[in-house]
Amino acid sequence: MKILVTDGMDKDAISTLRTKGHEVIEQFYEIDQLNEKIKNIDVIIVRSATKIRKNTIDSALSTKKLKMVIRGGVGIDNIDYEYARSKGIIVNNTPKASSAAVAELALSHMFSLARFIGIANATMREGQWNKKEYKGIELNNKTLGLIGFGRIAKELAKRANALGMKVIYNDILGENNQYKQYKYVELDQLLKTSDFISMHIPADPSKGPFIDKEKINKMKDGVYFINTSRGALVDELALLDGLNSNKLGGAGLDVFMEEPTKNSELINHAKVSVTPHIGASTKEAQKRIGEEIVNIIESMEE
Ligand code: NAD
Repeated sequence: MKILVTDGMDKDAISTLRTKGHEVIEQFYEIDQLNEKIKNIDVIIVRSATKIRKNTIDSALSTKKLKMVIRGGVGIDNIDYEYARSKGIIVNNTPKASSAAVAELALSHMFSLARFIGIANATMREGQWNKKEYKGIELNNKTLGLIGFGRIAKELAKRANALGMKVIYNDILGENNQYKQYKYVELDQLLKTSDFISMHIPADPSKGPFIDKEKINKMKDGVYFINTSRGALVDELALLDGLNSNKLGGAGLDVFMEEPTKNSELINHAKVSVTPHIGASTKEAQKRIGEEIVNIIESMEE
């Protein structure tokens, strides 16, 4: 098959696909070129940079060659997947491969905020020595509220539990009886009682931000809020207001409404710890994503 990889992929997975006789093209295309190239390929593999919208799918349909779109990662909000599926194009992702990596990044932001690691790095490089300002808190004995209790949240819960945190969660699926060590609570109670809140739900492009002014107002004063899910889930203006009014103790952000973000007020805020959407960017996760993609393509041939 002719396989186009637009946003990069693990080298071993590319070699495996080539060894199996597939033609693999590694190239990012801007939309106009992509809409041409897609007419002549069987499978396209994307991460988050490439958007597969209706016009790209329509272009592929003109030759009917494209059989599958694979998203190396979890969120498929960069793909008009319902439209693709309605036209007989299969859409797949690799949901399990990056859970541990994202959970570890969420935890890193929690430590970064609790002990001023991000801001201390920035200010020391400017020649400052703000020892007195950086009196932190311990994660031990604090309550972590998880919004969404899927794959990533469960990985984070395990790690937080090992650190002596009390873990509570809310999920639209309700209480999960396999995880009695964590407490299921209503969302309002989670917002009101958590010292740290980490959100692990999918983004729905048809809805507005999930975390808005109203929900921030319900949070405990001084709460630390972590978003490694999707930028569209959070109203960044409301978040900034919450930080400036000291309602929030801090925010750890890996994802933004617009990426790369132009919200310099937010990313330069002293109470914010930021990373450029690197939740799944570990060597191990990328290797697992590559392996899952090879398996998907193999099962397609069966
Ligand atoms: P998942 O599907 O395993 O879990 C999501 C959970 O959220 C489900 O249990 C679902 O029932 C629940 N849920 C959905 N809507 C809800 C709501 N309104 N309130 C409460 N619960 C709700 O997903 P996952 O693999 O844990 O991924 C979570 C998020 O992380 C996704 O947004 C994904 O795109 C994102 N992600 C980010 C990165 C990154 O690089 N930062 C990498 C991978 C995944």
